[in-house]
Amino acid sequence: MPVSKYRQPLPPDSKISFPQFGNYGIAMEHLIQKGLGMTYVMPPRMTRHTLELGARYAPDSVCAPFKLNLGCFLECIDAGADTLIQTGGTCRLGYYGELHEQILRDMGKDVRFVNFAECDFSRPKTFVDEFRELKPDLDIKRFTAAAVETVRMVNAIDEVDALFRRRIGFAEDPRAMDAIRTNWLKQLRMADGIKQIELLRKATVRMLENQKVNMPKHPIRVGVVGEFFTIMDPFSNHDIEYELAHMGVLVDRWMDMTNCMYHYRSRKMLPRIKEYAHYNMGATAMATIDAALHYAKSGFDGIIHVKSAGCTPEIDAIPALQNISADYHVPILYLSFDTQTSETGLNTRLEAFYDMISMRKQARK
Ligand code: SF4
Repeated sequence: MPVSKYRQPLPPDSKISFPQFGNYGIAMEHLIQKGLGMTYVMPPRMTRHTLELGARYAPDSVCAPFKLNLGCFLECIDAGADTLIQTGGTCRLGYYGELHEQILRDMGKDVRFVNFAECDFSRPKTFVDEFRELKPDLDIKRFTAAAVETVRMVNAIDEVDALFRRRIGFAEDPRAMDAIRTNWLKQLRMADGIKQIELLRKATVRMLENQKVNMPKHPIRVGVVGEFFTIMDPFSNHDIEYELAHMGVLVDRWMDMTNCMYHYRSRKMLPRIKEYAHYNMGATAMATIDAALHYAKSGFDGIIHVKSAGCTPEIDAIPALQNISADYHVPILYLSFDTQTSETGLNTRLEAFYDMISMRKQARK
């Protein structure tokens, strides 16, 4: 049987794109351009239109990440991409690639689809094999160097984001902090080589730390837990961390790409959370429970659980979270995002949650 034209090695002039996911597109761009020597099409910033576009062509019952990715793929095609990358996951995300591809074919889109669903993050060789299929003359030395830099970029993005999250709510000049971050991401896109990435990271961390903050001795602390895509993508969660920070909350989140890549399997979560869950419920549900338990034990004032509507693994985690909430007397706000989530309704719930945990903190003094 002849190999489908969509499964053949990529032509050298391919224009590759990957759906927007937080700021990680910068790292993906580096890998494609430097590692493969091909063109990367940066997906346009997601907007309401992206979501509506995805929702129009996706099955109604799928989770929001599917719809957002589909909308994003369509916008990438409009921006000139002819090759789309899809990754796998430990939930139905592993099947999304085929479904996205089928929908795009039915719409008459003549694009190539690269699906990394079979690859294993804990075994980088599986990715190398896949890339070799895409580019049989792959320069392994060049690709490996680019891959190492890509991982370092991801780590640096996560480190700067975490620092920003902790400080922005108390900054004397939040606009200056915003500008530092915007400039950091702009410069990171141009960085080449570990040395440049490191210099840039260090300079940005120093600049953020030098910004004056007026943090109370005992700030209100909120831990954010939940489904990996919705929690890490600010557009998907209506940037709730930023909203919380502007209310004067110290926001902490364990889940990011670095922790997912390096610490998810090795953390031996199950023994730690054995009172609340006995089996792995799939996707990142165990990390949700583990992080919530950590925040509860560390005396955080509140926890916010973020998920997409219809996300089975995170729905399964909710009873465990309710038990943690009862055992440690820590309030948990459950937020479920879909294509209909309204900004006003969300802000009202966040403000009510903030009022409740701040009054509680006052009463306990
Ligand atoms: S973890 Fe949940 S929201 Fe995310 S892709 Fe899987 S089912 Fe969808």
